Parts: sequence; structure tokens; C-alpha cells
Amino acid sequence: MTSRKEATSDGALIPLLGPRGYLAIPIAEDGLLIVTRDGRKGRPGTLRENEVEALDRLAHHARLAIANARLHAHMSEMAITDPLTGLANHGEMQARLAFECGRLQRYATLRAAGHHLSVILLDIDHFKKFNDRFGHQAGDAVLKGVAAALKGAVRSFDIAARYGGEEFAVILPETTEEAAREIAERIRRSVSMYPFASEDGKSVRVTASVGIATAPENGSTPAALIKQADAALYHSKEEGRNRVTHALDTERPVARVLSMDSTRRRREQGAARARAGSRRAPARSSHPRRRTPPV
Ligand code: GH3
Ligand code: MG
Ligand code: MG
Repeated sequence: MTSRKEATSDGALIPLLGPRGYLAIPIAEDGLLIVTRDGRKGRPGTLRENEVEALDRLAHHARLAIANARLHAHMSEMAITDPLTGLANHGEMQARLAFECGRLQRYATLRAAGHHLSVILLDIDHFKKFNDRFGHQAGDAVLKGVAAALKGAVRSFDIAARYGGEEFAVILPETTEEAAREIAERIRRSVSMYPFASEDGKSVRVTASVGIATAPENGSTPAALIKQADAALYHSKEEGRNRVTHALDTERPVARVLSMDSTRRRREQGAARARAGSRRAPARSSHPRRRTPPV
């Protein structure tokens, strides 16, 4: 309980107080319960002792309730967040994917109206070697950098998650195959251009391989979409890493290579031209896209 003289000594509460003293009780680290009373004819009022006791009890309960609510909010956040990257963790990613698949399945009209859902899986290339060469801490910085690249590439309602270890997932509601390819390619490019710092301060590049699956084309359950995206990711690894593959590509006789570093592309195009020139083989016709049946 403070008199006006004391209260105004630091000046901060003057606008709140007017001409009277006040009762201020801390109810959180950053919260005060402040009580004043108007007296008669504009004179300062006083708080009676029993009122002060009642307010003190009230503040005590408020203090506990606020602390509990904050702890609960913190624990809830921790339960769904990966501590290293700040992205959604595996459990949260599965829950959100199940929710989005449920939405798509429940509302047949959504599908009829051409609604889609895409899932991207991304795995850092040769990450074990990176750790061996530059150390685990530099490896952790890469994981954070990839998380930042993911966050920068997706929309606010997409869900970027750390799937586990050096694997990441992005759930893209309302996203078609074509749009998902574009987003995945943007992510792949931004990871490959990200200048990570090694322990001796030099800039190091890493690459990542990406797989995509889209509902309803590749199935409409979480298990089917993850399986198909994983198969596409495996395909990207097999084809030489640092590229994006959609599950719809993997059944084709010749997988469409969506992206690769320009030097590699030039080298491979040059080799293909040399082969074609020496054998005079007819140009390979492009195959119509085969659709994977829903699982
Ligand atoms: P690939 O291109 O085939 O994916 O090769 P890779 O070396 O990335 O794959 P592999 O699965 O053999 O190795 C994954 C590595 O990821 C091994 C492990 O040390 C590293 N890793 C997993 N989680 C973490 C982490 O939290 N921090 C760090 N620094 N490394 C991690
Ligand atoms: Mg892996
Ligand atoms: Mg890897």
C-alpha cells in the first residue's frame, strides 16, 4: 500500500492514480493488480483493512491462475515443437496430416470441387559426412538453416515440420501437384544456396533431396501420402540427389528430372548429345504421365 507521495516518486503511475494513493499487488512477473478508490467530493478515498485483505487473497488466486495458464501454454507448445528448429515435431506433423486428410475424405464435395493436399519430404544429402567433417554443432546449424529455408518458402497455413533426424516434412493444404512442385523446387534451391558457416568460418553449401505426393492422385490417407512421398524422395536420392521428384514421376519408365545443379545439367546434356551424335539414335519421345492409383 502506497501513498501518493511514494507512488509518484518514479512518475510511472501518475496517469493511473490521479490524486489518490493506491494498492498495488504483483500478480505475475509482469503484472500488477492496482486498486484505488474515489473519495467523496473528489477527495482521495481510503481502502479499509478488510478490503485490502480480500484483495490480497484475490491477487493470490490470480497469481496462481496466471502462472498455471502460462505453464500450460508453454507445455502445450513444447509438446508439439521440435526444440532445435522450432518447427512442428513429428507427432504434431502426423496429427495435422491426419486432420487435413480427414477434411478431404469427409467432405466429398471438397474433392469433387478439385481440392488437393500435397506432402513434401526433404532429406539432407550426405549429412553424415557433413557431421564427420565439420562437427555436430555445424550440423545442428544446418538443420536450423534448413528449417529457416522451409519457413521462408511456405505460406502461413502450411505446416513445416522436422520429421526426424535430418528429414523434414511440409504439409500443403489446398495445393495441387504443380504448385507443390514449384514450392519444393523453391525449397531445394534455397537450401542449396544457403551459406552455412563451418567451424573455421568458411561458407559451406549443402544440398537436399525432395519427394512429393499429392492427394487424391497418390491416395488420401496419411500413410499412403507419406509412403508415396518417401518413395519419390528415395527416387531423388537414387537419381543423384539435390533434386525434386513427384510420386507421379516414379512409375514412369524414365523419371522426369525436375532439377539439378546447372553444371551437372550441362555436363549431362553434353554427354547425352555426344551419345546421340555417335549412335545417331532417334530422340526419345516423351512418355505420357502415368498416374499412380490411389493406395
Ligand atoms: P543421404 O544423402 O543418403 O541421405 O546420406 P546421409 O548421410 O544424409 O544419411 P544417413 O541416414 O546415413 O545419415 C543421417 C545423418 O544425420 C546421421 C546423423 O548423424 C545425422 N543427424 C541426425 N539427426 C541429427 C541432429 O540432430 N544433429 C546433427 N548434427 N546431425 C544429425
Ligand atoms: Mg535420412
Ligand atoms: Mg540424408
